[in-house]
Amino acid sequence: MSLPAFDTVDSFRQFRQGLSGSVGLVPTMGFLHAGHLSLIEAAQAENDHVVVSIFVNPTQFAQGEDLDSYPRDLPRDLALLESAGVSGVFMPTPDQMYPAGFQTYVTVEHLTAGLEGAQRPTHFRGVTTVVSKLFNIVQADRAYFGQKDAQQVVVIRRMVADLNLPVKIEVCPILREDDGLAMSSRNVYLSETDRKRALAINQALKSAGELYANGERNPDQFRNIIRKQLKQQARIEPDYVSVADARTLVECINATSAPLLVSVAAQVGKPRLLDNCLLPIELNTRVGVTATLGAI
Ligand code: AMP
Repeated sequence: MSLPAFDTVDSFRQFRQGLSGSVGLVPTMGFLHAGHLSLIEAAQAENDHVVVSIFVNPTQFAQGEDLDSYPRDLPRDLALLESAGVSGVFMPTPDQMYPAGFQTYVTVEHLTAGLEGAQRPTHFRGVTTVVSKLFNIVQADRAYFGQKDAQQVVVIRRMVADLNLPVKIEVCPILREDDGLAMSSRNVYLSETDRKRALAINQALKSAGELYANGERNPDQFRNIIRKQLKQQARIEPDYVSVADARTLVECINATSAPLLVSVAAQVGKPRLLDNCLLPIELNTRVGVTATLGAI
């Protein structure tokens, strides 16, 4: 394997010093799938070098969540990244990122209160802390994130603006399986029957999109149709069904002309899955290399 891969901050920094031209960073937790590869492709189109980080970040998992059982396959990931032609991989050990005595965290306030933040109160503090550290270590010109984790995108954009971080955030669309299931490393935990049931999530989002296209603007109608369709499937337990202003993430009570982020988090058998769409639906169309939340 000739792909340069580094598990310490110092060795990565030395490698980084030798890269000339622009650098795009794709942060991941590994167990790569085509969704991750689409971020890498977008990064390759715009940068001289692409660096991928692989780090299952302990601080974004709460006690009792799936940190230990999160799927991992480093040899497979490295083979995929080598054939994708990335310039280097940063795959630090937890003690490299959180050495003894670590006590500094980055928090984004209001945007982290709802949605995932309401279900997972310490999650975003872990995300913004590790992403800040990755930005400091990798010194990328651009960083690529998926619309799949829409709240994460909104929170990271806020952090970058608030802290004047010298990196441009690019947002890439959700890559889906042919049948519409949003790709996710956690899909590997779906049994065959649960995988079929999980399709109801994307279908319900599409139904909300159809209502919107037919002129409906009452946010409760979108929530209702989604909840109704999810209820028809056994073993889908929604954590939330949200219709929020896509910029502020404030839950919508009244009809509004603001772009809407419609999102669902649901336990489907073993894994907890996320999916979302923007309304109006045209916002989901890829525009150049940025799209979705990148367009608003
Ligand atoms: P993860 O490894 O799950 O932390 O994801 C790393 C990055 O890939 C994040 O920016 C995700 O939003 C993005 N990502 C995950 N799934 C998809 C997908 N299906 N399509 C596009 N991007 C994705």
